[in-house]
Amino acid sequence: MIPERPITHRYEDPVDAVWVACAERIGYRIRRADDVYAGFDGIDTITIAAGAALDPDDSLAQLIFHELCHALVASDDARKRPDWGLENVDDRDLVSEHACHRLQAALADRFGLRGFMAATTQWRPHWDALPADPLDDDGDPAVPRARLGWTRARKSPWREALDEALAATAAIAAAIAPVAGPDSLWSRWTPLHPLGSPLGPEDARCADCAWRFAAGPGYPVDRCRQHRDPGAPVAPRIDPDWRACARFEPPVRDADCADCGACCRQAFHLVPVSRRSPLLTSHRAWIVRDAHGAHLPRPDGFCVALSRGPEDGPPYLCTVYDERPKSCRDFPVGGDHCLLARQRVGLSAKAPWGR
Ligand code: SF4
Ligand code: SF4
Repeated sequence: MIPERPITHRYEDPVDAVWVACAERIGYRIRRADDVYAGFDGIDTITIAAGAALDPDDSLAQLIFHELCHALVASDDARKRPDWGLENVDDRDLVSEHACHRLQAALADRFGLRGFMAATTQWRPHWDALPADPLDDDGDPAVPRARLGWTRARKSPWREALDEALAATAAIAAAIAPVAGPDSLWSRWTPLHPLGSPLGPEDARCADCAWRFAAGPGYPVDRCRQHRDPGAPVAPRIDPDWRACARFEPPVRDADCADCGACCRQAFHLVPVSRRSPLLTSHRAWIVRDAHGAHLPRPDGFCVALSRGPEDGPPYLCTVYDERPKSCRDFPVGGDHCLLARQRVGLSAKAPWGR
């Protein structure tokens, strides 16, 4: 006969434990029950169904994360109502539900967790159809709500609680993914570039990327323009030997200009013309003088000196190239402003919204 023994500890799923603690840190209590799949009492308690009732590709962790995202996209009034004011009996609540998905995906993306922390149940098709940047304005009315939620999520105490829970989830996933089978949810975690974007082509390195530049007082170090946080004083450091991220672009060279023309069209407002410029006499009719001084104007966004070139040649040609103003001569190909111009006309990748 096996002697009875006292049992003092029980096994806990580590990721579930991380998310219960995350919710508590923000001010929500987690209760398990069999009468709902996931719900909120309008006060401080989030109820999630017991494990056996969940879809096989679902988890307590994902459902807590999902409910927290509902809290973030809900209006101040809805945040104090049961189920965040949602009934989901018809299409009236679709914008809120879709905003929750977009925010959840945007937060999860920063840790390679879009696949692992995916919305389930009947919402999964919508989740699977979300774009690469779920906060980019593509006309979906859910985007402004999701962006509002993102702004809230980047403030204390949400920021610290969510970032630490997502980082801990990613660390656990990174440890388990190598031994997980192909049908395991753990295999849905995707490793990220050290700066937080998905990994790019296997044979490309940061050293060869258009977004890399060297800067620093006295001892220049490699940095990445693409990952510059608008609120940060400097762009983040990179190791040129790192495998490139998905935002990798080959360097922009002089030869690209004729096919690009971004800095001459739609990207900047006008080109100043100095007092010594030969254009003042050779193309007097073009010059405009106003509060901005003498300049070449850009009606419809295109510089007056820009031609579209022959039909079978490069599309953008400067018709006064040899006399072009100093600001055009000094414009560094592949520099900050060049890449900004290319972003504005859609030739270079935009940074994800909110960064
Ligand atoms: S955009 Fe990506 S590949 Fe390019 S320098 Fe930055 S981190 Fe490296
Ligand atoms: S934006 Fe850059 S690549 Fe494009 S035309 Fe201007 S300098 Fe050349």
